[in-house]
Amino acid sequence: MECDVVAPETTMDRQESAAPPARLRGVALACPVDRAALVEEGPDRLRCSACAAVFPRVNGIPVLINDANSAFAVADYVGGQGYGGASYGRAADRTSGLRRLGRRIVRRLADVQSSIAYPGPEDALAHVRAKTSSPAVLVIGSGGCRLGSAEDHVVHTDVAFAAEVDAIADAHDLPFESCSFDLVVAVAVFEHVADPARCAAEVVRVLRPGGYVYAVTPFLQPVHMGAYDFTRFTPIGHRRLFRAFDEVAAGVAMGAGSTLGAGFAGFLRAISAAGAWQRVAGLAGMLAAAPLRLLDRFLPNSADFASGLWFFGRLRDDPPVSDRELVTTYHASFGRGARKLPPP
Ligand SMILES: [Zn+2]
Repeated sequence: MECDVVAPETTMDRQESAAPPARLRGVALACPVDRAALVEEGPDRLRCSACAAVFPRVNGIPVLINDANSAFAVADYVGGQGYGGASYGRAADRTSGLRRLGRRIVRRLADVQSSIAYPGPEDALAHVRAKTSSPAVLVIGSGGCRLGSAEDHVVHTDVAFAAEVDAIADAHDLPFESCSFDLVVAVAVFEHVADPARCAAEVVRVLRPGGYVYAVTPFLQPVHMGAYDFTRFTPIGHRRLFRAFDEVAAGVAMGAGSTLGAGFAGFLRAISAAGAWQRVAGLAGMLAAAPLRLLDRFLPNSADFASGLWFFGRLRDDPPVSDRELVTTYHASFGRGARKLPPP
């Protein structure tokens, strides 16, 4: 098992180094370049015990990016900004009266919530907790969301600064030692990575034997987050991404109604690129999409026209599922898929 192999120089470096090993919520940090142990080097930076690469802390948050290998540059975070100046924190709304109310309504409509009841990250965590007491959990792309409670060892990572983010990390090079986690959560992440297979391999690497993955990923959705939106997955494509796992349960996160609503909104936006039209089309599209989204729960055969899919799986002891075996798992009756997780 890959997990039993500990690079001897890594262990040695850690013992010989006077600097304390860097940890986040009890989990040891590793260099995203070579995965050797990271050590604290003053309050503002961490250093790799092997390659001596240095990683800054910005407002206390370590920026653990493999600079040569990432779409994101460490230098972009040093000013406290992050990629393209983007962050999840909304600027304070300085408008008032009707305009402010209007904006609130639009925001609520734009807040894409599924109308389908399906197991979420908290359900996945509860499932894993029943198997492993005080599990170590990694959330990739956590945004401003917090998973679990204070006593859980949950490490929240993202490529943008947000309230709950513990570290800036790119899923292509996760800054953790192998076999560090019992559960990895990735909600709306795999469409945003340039190389999903490599990121899935990283998830496998950082999981302990028998560890779990929980993912929600778009299938039929328009581009969002501009340049940082690379790919989509069909139901079988999503299953293949996690072929190192046995499926515990999977299903539709957002159904055909959501797909239709987003498609209609996209159709309106396609008519003209003019700013004024885009604002009108954006509002009209949202107004149309909101009720269509509510239809999802009444559509039991959504899988092949789904807007988003979820997967919960357990790391296999056997080699990954072969493609020949994989295609036999496709079944038209997938429909909405599972509505809840099986008992642990
Ligand atoms: Zn290194």
